[in-house]
Amino acid sequence: MKVTALQPVSRKEDGPRGKKNADVVIVNTCAVTSKAAMQSRQAIRKIIRENPDAKVIVTGCHAQTDPETIKKIDHIDHLVCHKDKLKIADHLGSTADDRFPLIFKKIDRTEPNSFKGFHHAVKGDMTRAYLKIQDGCDAFCTYCIVPHARGASVSMPEADILRHLRELGASGVNEVILTGIHAGMYGRDFKEKSSLLDLLTRIDQERPVYRLRLSSIEPCEINEGIIRLAKPGHILCDHFHIPLQSGDDDILKKMKRPYDRFFFKDMVQMIYEILPFAGIGVDTLIGFPSETDRQFENTYELIESLPISYLHVFPFSARKGTPAYHFDPKVDDKTIKDRCAGMRTLDKMKRREFVGRNLNRIQEGLVQNNPDKKTGLIKAVTSNYLTVLLKAGPEFCGKILDLVPEQWDKDLTVKGRISE
Ligand code: SF4
Repeated sequence: MKVTALQPVSRKEDGPRGKKNADVVIVNTCAVTSKAAMQSRQAIRKIIRENPDAKVIVTGCHAQTDPETIKKIDHIDHLVCHKDKLKIADHLGSTADDRFPLIFKKIDRTEPNSFKGFHHAVKGDMTRAYLKIQDGCDAFCTYCIVPHARGASVSMPEADILRHLRELGASGVNEVILTGIHAGMYGRDFKEKSSLLDLLTRIDQERPVYRLRLSSIEPCEINEGIIRLAKPGHILCDHFHIPLQSGDDDILKKMKRPYDRFFFKDMVQMIYEILPFAGIGVDTLIGFPSETDRQFENTYELIESLPISYLHVFPFSARKGTPAYHFDPKVDDKTIKDRCAGMRTLDKMKRREFVGRNLNRIQEGLVQNNPDKKTGLIKAVTSNYLTVLLKAGPEFCGKILDLVPEQWDKDLTVKGRISE
């Protein structure tokens, strides 16, 4: 039986990735923005056209939060809710309607949630492995659909995390990226409370892999202990990706974000004092309802004043089922577009500053399995999240080596050499 599993939206490609003539297709939909949800539906339709005889199984956050819209698409065989996603493989032989046992249910937050992960760590052909250590969220930021899709915050037991990391380390993986919807909440759902700092400290003592990276962490959950675990000789990469969203206090309140601009500023400065070369990435959400020019400038000026190394810029997207869907006045599309363009210019400035600070500095880089498509040079990713192109043979793939970034071009492509 030929099974194709698809993520409808990928960062590298616009359309769905997939193969034709599969027997079963599983589509993992996304709901984080209305565009992602729309692309998910487009992907399902395309897959049905290209695989007319396949069983089509749809799961993921869009299916979970808006099953009625998905059901309007003809020829979907099964909708599977988030909590049953990992059981699909067990039932692939029973996809006939009368035998498929997974019943779709909406999230019921009054029922206890439990962590579900793969039994073995998944690496595929990637140089760096991803390990989900937490799922769900209890924060209910007013713009966000995720708590409605994933349920309450739940964490993978520490023993399982260590087992996965040992397996990955033994198979030669040098870097693991720890992911979660709200990873800073790690361990707070346990009977005996734990924390992300406790977990990272434990991993740092054992060192089952060479280094760990956090995929993202909320401003209020970064603390001095975590930052110190990213100092040389410790397990964490000196790279933090932090969702700021807005640098205006009134907008932050309307978003129900639990910090203000001064808290954020102090936190970034604490990172910079302890780790002066840290990569610090920031998410911004632009054009939240009622955001004025002045409030947008507050965000811009806050970021401009701080040692941030790059930005991810997201235009506000009203998600049905969230409070912000009903907030007025909405910011018009052109204003949102212009503000996003301004932020992207600031992103380029920040990236340039960051590269400039890192030039001619010896750093460790993990060599990626795939070379750079344009130049054919090998790519290495540093602990502080700089990608450096190097002249070297494929024998270095997956290895950590010392490198020196030496020059960059107008597209911010950084080239360097292996340090002797
Ligand atoms: S903390 Fe993140 S996942 Fe949770 S509601 Fe806020 S934005 Fe969404």
